[in-house]
Amino acid sequence: MPCEHPTPHSTLAARVNTLGQSLLRHHGERVHKLAIHAGFTCPNRDGTKGRGGCTFCNNFSFSPHARRDPNVAGQIEAGRRVLAKRTGARLFIAYFQAYTNTYGDVDRLRRLYEEALAQPGVIGLSVGTRPDCVPDAVLDLLAEYRDRGCEVWLELGLQSAFDKTLARVNRGHGFAEYRDAVARARARGLPLCTHLIVGLPGEAPRDSLASLERVLELGVDGLKIHPLHVVKHTLLAHQWRRGEYRPLALEEYVETVVEMVRRTPAEVVYHRLTGTASADILLAPRWCSRKWRVLNAITKRLEALDARQGDQAEPPKARVANAC
Ligand code: SF4
Repeated sequence: MPCEHPTPHSTLAARVNTLGQSLLRHHGERVHKLAIHAGFTCPNRDGTKGRGGCTFCNNFSFSPHARRDPNVAGQIEAGRRVLAKRTGARLFIAYFQAYTNTYGDVDRLRRLYEEALAQPGVIGLSVGTRPDCVPDAVLDLLAEYRDRGCEVWLELGLQSAFDKTLARVNRGHGFAEYRDAVARARARGLPLCTHLIVGLPGEAPRDSLASLERVLELGVDGLKIHPLHVVKHTLLAHQWRRGEYRPLALEEYVETVVEMVRRTPAEVVYHRLTGTASADILLAPRWCSRKWRVLNAITKRLEALDARQGDQAEPPKARVANAC
């Protein structure tokens, strides 16, 4: 049985620029993210952009412990108490995670974000959303918080840079919307974290590498990678049962992620290198429920190759020259 003890932060962080270490450097102590469910829905579910959502989305799988209470202050207080007791944590980022956290009028967003920022110990916001749901007014609002000195991250779910794949999983947007959102976020100097999924239907590891390359060409400050989970009550689950989708093996995932990390410039912050789904809804691949096993395997592979983030990255000029 392989070792599943947590990878010491220092071991992984010696080779990868992790969010934990990056925040520790900037704030002088550990900063913890508190996941919030603020009662948003998603335009790809309510008919505005599409219906049924992405073929892999059972939103519960991404935030199984998020509380349904839309009382942001209450959720933060509850999460803060648990973390403070367990780790002595004092500083937090309010992570608006579930569904599309910019999907609302700007006054409502302001109320929710400011409620979060007003809680003791909260030093910033991380806002997860879709690339086609970030109007200028929302970016201006986030830039306002950044200008006040808050830690702010805009997290854009791209998943793949290939329109064919995005259509296949019913994302309801293409790469063009991502390009547009990135340009407007970067014009405001907003820190941007892009989410990519490895193992999407019809994609090979080289496609994940190509998606990464296109993301790097446009400019990005953070990356979040996870394997595609097949979870209950999704179209992907039906496709998997019918044999139309084959999940990745752990070894394939580890090789792909290691290659992605090596091609990523050292200054880009890795927010996540894998993702978990709760055991009661996860169908496949089973290995992705064991987060530490995956992180240990990534760390060991990097060590075996004596590899680290950025050691195969193109110099910035070459990346710009290749951009179309
Ligand atoms: S955009 Fe996000 S919340 Fe909406 S259906 Fe897709 S994965 Fe689910």
